[in-house]
Parts: sequence; C-alpha cells; structure tokens
Amino acid sequence: MKAKIDADTCIGCGLCVTTCPEVYKMEDDKAVVFVSAVPKGAEENCQKAADECPVTAIVVTK
Ligand code: SF4
Repeated sequence: MKAKIDADTCIGCGLCVTTCPEVYKMEDDKAVVFVSAVPKGAEENCQKAADECPVTAIVVTK
C-alpha cells in the first residue's frame, strides 16, 4: 500500500498525522507522507486518515 498527499489541496489541519503518525507528518504547514510504503500494521489507520481528510487530499493505492 502507498499513500500520497496532494500538497496543493492539503489545508494542514493535522488530522491525518494524529490518525496515522506512522505514515504522515507535518512539514511546514502541510502534511507529507514520509514512508515509501505503508507499514503493514498501519494500513487500516492510513486508509482511515485518507477517508477522514476534510479536503480529500490523500490518495491511497494498493
Ligand atoms: S487530513 Fe488532509 S488536509 Fe488535513 S493535514 Fe492531512 S492531508 Fe492535509
């Protein structure tokens, strides 16, 4: 599983970082994905963060 954030869309609310700190972190005023592949144990939370992003900036691919 991979995750990607559209930096132009992200509003920097920080929700994804709270939901899945194994994959997302804040960098300046935007969230970024800091892993090349989502760790197995973090997949559920990673998907949850994508589903809950208020501006749908996160794309998760299998
Ligand atoms: S939840 Fe969405 S808008 Fe909020 S920081 Fe994460 S990617 Fe950005």
